[in-house]
Amino acid sequence: MRKTKLVMTLGPALMQGDRLREALKEADAVRLNASHGDPESRVVALEKVRSISQELGRAIPVFLDLQGPKWRVGLLESPVDLATGSEGVFYAPGTEVPTGFAWAAPLPHPELFEGAEPGQHWLLDDGAITVKILAKGSELLKAEVVIGGPLKARKGVHPIGMDINVDPLTEKDHADIRWGVEHNVDLFAQSFVRRASDVQQLQAIIHHLGGTQPIIAKIEHPTALAHLAEILDVSWGVMVARGDLGVELGVERVPGLQKQIIKAARKALKPVITATQMLESMIEHAQPTRAEASDVANAIWDGTDAVMLSAESASGAYPVEAVQWLARIAAEADANVKQRTTTLPEDLAEKVLARTDISVAFAACRTADEINARWIVAFTEGGGTARMVSRLAGRTPVLGATVDELTARRMGILRGVTALIIPRVASTDEMVEVVRDLLLAKHDVGSFDRVVMTMGLPLWKSGTTNTMKVMTF
Ligand code: PGA
Ligand code: MN
Repeated sequence: MRKTKLVMTLGPALMQGDRLREALKEADAVRLNASHGDPESRVVALEKVRSISQELGRAIPVFLDLQGPKWRVGLLESPVDLATGSEGVFYAPGTEVPTGFAWAAPLPHPELFEGAEPGQHWLLDDGAITVKILAKGSELLKAEVVIGGPLKARKGVHPIGMDINVDPLTEKDHADIRWGVEHNVDLFAQSFVRRASDVQQLQAIIHHLGGTQPIIAKIEHPTALAHLAEILDVSWGVMVARGDLGVELGVERVPGLQKQIIKAARKALKPVITATQMLESMIEHAQPTRAEASDVANAIWDGTDAVMLSAESASGAYPVEAVQWLARIAAEADANVKQRTTTLPEDLAEKVLARTDISVAFAACRTADEINARWIVAFTEGGGTARMVSRLAGRTPVLGATVDELTARRMGILRGVTALIIPRVASTDEMVEVVRDLLLAKHDVGSFDRVVMTMGLPLWKSGTTNTMKVMTF
């Protein structure tokens, strides 16, 4: 049984024919990327996902990934050739186009003129072009091309090592947040998070708009690495956003940073998604490379909860095959992990002193592995206990039992957790009975199978996990 969760990015490639239905048979969560597409086509896509997942009887969360403060060059009528070694300028749009330089490109971000320093390297177009800043003025920046290429309109600009004060949310983000709350997406992902206050700011806006969506902080900016623990504290989960992380910090640092971020997330008992270029070659080919299969498996062995497809599913030629290959590789990698829960991870020992819920959840996971239990059933109101048990579980699979559909859907991102929707009953005895019937009917338990339950008493109060029960069938 596959435990790793699969996230796929929605896009035109999945909107053709029966592809979305086929892909949703395997995918566990869906990303809507606010950087692409218009709100109208997003509504169509979202409704299609909702209706197909209902038909399939699968609780599939949809998260809206906000573009965030990503700098881009301005509008250009045709690509500008930035030849290696040539000297040119970035200018403020609205001012006269400077002449007498090898090239000139508009840059609609005054703060970049301020933050620029001679000697800085800037990456354009996700690293395809590199320039070095030579001199700065308030409306003109002189630069030399280190690695050249054609620069097209609206391509991304990454000034390496510049950490200036920018608003973590752009005007576009504000409009997208409103859209997401209005259309009841299940979570938001926030791009280019730098510090905890960025996440708190977004959370406050969501709440102000009447939304309850939690936030996945995308770790892709160098500043975020210095504040990882605090960011994890205020986020629902994180994403290892390897695309921009590689641009910002160097591709060679991505493998180590991936391990570091996953480890920090596990320590914080929060879920983590590993993203970008997981099956990149499948944008054009029907099969992944050996290196890609290894990469997916290694992310899983690093401890990620979920692996994500971007262009492979959104705009590639083989979106369904990509999801199916991801499922196949993940299932095999999961089967190779036979780890039992035996001792409390050392980095959690301190937390447990103040947290009854962690210690009970841990005891349940350990007991389940010791007695070869069929399932761990974790009763969860807001989903916190399911997140925690997902983290602490060894080889025993987890059912996250909840009355709340939204909580159930969000489990689509938790490793090893299957959602179990239960009615809101009045007593513990009733609850145990209800679960017994559901397990017999749907979850493959037989005579003498045992199941370990965790719950909070009194019932239906969030954050009270304090009880463990072993049930024998
Ligand atoms: P993006 O984020 O696809 O929205 O850029 C993921 C990444 O940078 O890896
Ligand atoms: Mn990114």
